[in-house]
Amino acid sequence: MAGETLPPMPPERLIELNDVAVHFSLREGLVRAVNGVSYHVNKGEVLGVVGESGSGKSVTVRSIMRLQPKTALDAGGAIRFRLPDGSVTELNRLPRDGREIRSIRGRHIGMVFQEPMTALSPVHSIGTQIARTYQLHTGASKEAARNRAIDLLARVQMPRPREMVDVYPHQLSGGMRQRAMIALALTCEPSLLIADEPTTALDVTTEAQILDLLRSLQAEFGMAIIFITHNFGVVADIADRVAVMYLGRVAETGTVDQIFYHPKHPYTRALLQSIPRLGQKRVHRLKTIPGMVPDPFNIPAGCVFHPRCEHAVAGRCDVAEPASRTFDGGQIARCHLADSLPELVS
Ligand code: SF4
Repeated sequence: MAGETLPPMPPERLIELNDVAVHFSLREGLVRAVNGVSYHVNKGEVLGVVGESGSGKSVTVRSIMRLQPKTALDAGGAIRFRLPDGSVTELNRLPRDGREIRSIRGRHIGMVFQEPMTALSPVHSIGTQIARTYQLHTGASKEAARNRAIDLLARVQMPRPREMVDVYPHQLSGGMRQRAMIALALTCEPSLLIADEPTTALDVTTEAQILDLLRSLQAEFGMAIIFITHNFGVVADIADRVAVMYLGRVAETGTVDQIFYHPKHPYTRALLQSIPRLGQKRVHRLKTIPGMVPDPFNIPAGCVFHPRCEHAVAGRCDVAEPASRTFDGGQIARCHLADSLPELVS
C-alpha cells in the first residue's frame, strides 16, 4: 500500500504502520518475516508488542529505524512518522543510511536493546558517548554536552552521576549498563522510544527497577514507547495498548484491558493461559501452546495459526486467511471466529 493512498494521520498519531512487509532473500529461499503488519502509536502512549520468537516483532521495529540487514527487502506497506514540526515522513522510503534517517535516529526516535553493548561503545566513557550524541544533533558546546550527560545519568538514577560520567561500559553491572543505554537513547528527548526486550537478560529485581524507571521517564519526558517483549506479564506492567504478533502478522490489538480480559484471538488466549495471573480465582494448571512456530520457509495456508489452534475449523481455517476485523472500542483481531469464542474464565 503506497503512503500517498492512505488517509491523513489523525493529529494525535505519532507513528503508523500500514500493511508493512519485510522479506529476506536467503540462499535457501525467501523468508516472509513480516507480512502485512499494521499498528499505530499515539503521542505519549506505550504500545506493548508481544509474541514468541519468530513473530517478526523485532524485524518490524528495526524497519522503523531502517536498521535491517542487507538481505532484508522492503516488500511493501508504509511506515509514517510525525516529526515535531507536525510534518509526516514515510520512514520506509528513506535511504537506509541516508542523511534524513540518521537525523531522525537518535534525535526523534531513540532505541534501547536487550544487550546494551549493541548500542554502547566499549572504548569511550558513557559520558563521552552521551555528550557526542548531544553535540551531533544540537551543536551544543563541549561543556554543555558534558553537563547534559551528567543530568541524564542523574535522571536514570545512576548513583554519583558526576563520577559515573567518566566510567566505561565494562565497569558497570548489567542493570547500570541498561540505565546508561537508556540515558543515551533519551539524550535528545525523542518523541518515540523503541525498547526491544530491554529487560529480558536481567534478573527479576533489576527488571522491575528498569520497568519502574521507564515508566517514570515516560511520564517525565512525555514520549511514546514501543515496548517489545515475549513476556505478557511485563506488558501488563508498562503498556496502554498491546499488539500480539504471530508469524509476521498482528493477530490482535487492543487496550491492555481488552487484551487481558476480553481477548478475541485464540493465540492471545493461549498466551494468557500460559502465564500465571494475579488475582486468578482458582489454581489452574498453566497451559502450553501445542506445537512449534512453523518454519518461516513453510508458512501454513489459510490462518497461519491453524496447526496450533484448538478452535481451528477444518475446511475453513486451513483454507482461507482471515482478515483483520475491528470490534467495539477499537479492538482488532484476525480470526474467523473472533466474535463467537466463549469468554475466558479466570
Ligand atoms: Fe484459530 Fe481459525 Fe481463528 Fe485461526 S482463524 S485463530 S485457526 S479459529
